[in-house]
Amino acid sequence: MSSSSPVARLVDALEKLPGIGRKSAERMAMKIARDDKGLASEMIDALADVRSNIRTCTQCGSITSISNDPCRLCTSSTRDDTTICVVEDAMDIINIERSGEFKGRYFLLMGRISAGRNPIKPERLKQLSERIHGGKIKEVILALGTDTESDATASYLEHLLKNDGVAMTRLAMGLPIGSSVAYSDPVTLARAIKGRVKAS
Ligand SMILES: [Zn+2]
Repeated sequence: MSSSSPVARLVDALEKLPGIGRKSAERMAMKIARDDKGLASEMIDALADVRSNIRTCTQCGSITSISNDPCRLCTSSTRDDTTICVVEDAMDIINIERSGEFKGRYFLLMGRISAGRNPIKPERLKQLSERIHGGKIKEVILALGTDTESDATASYLEHLLKNDGVAMTRLAMGLPIGSSVAYSDPVTLARAIKGRVKAS
């Protein structure tokens, strides 16, 4: 496979997806290449649809369609406006929704405090602060992971928001050390939301 072949280009692109190693990318690319164009066409259509019709929600930062901004989680009249759940990743929202335990609003940080390649952008922190200053919010739930960078992010947010007069809680019970919200099973996550503790 020369580095400029169509299949090699596809492998390179697929390998950029989270959780996909070189071998899996090669297997997927071969399946797409061999599938008599049907699968490739379906993927091209789906990707074009995502590229043209998806944007980030102006309120929570999650993914929504262009025609639904703010997203349904931000606009639903049955959700609680006084509680906001702060997450690191869009997948976290999907997983928390699956747990069925949380009925408030969300705010996606799109990163975390870290020296690594995905630091939180300062404008997200400013937006979070403004959202909380907006008045209705009484409780901020930090639904962050349990590794060092998530801990640093939680400490930073606790410091940033400590004078805002809101209760701040953090998921604790049930989440193993080093785990992330996105990959916790819904039952464990539901227990962690119910058993959230006051952030120190
Ligand atoms: Zn939203």
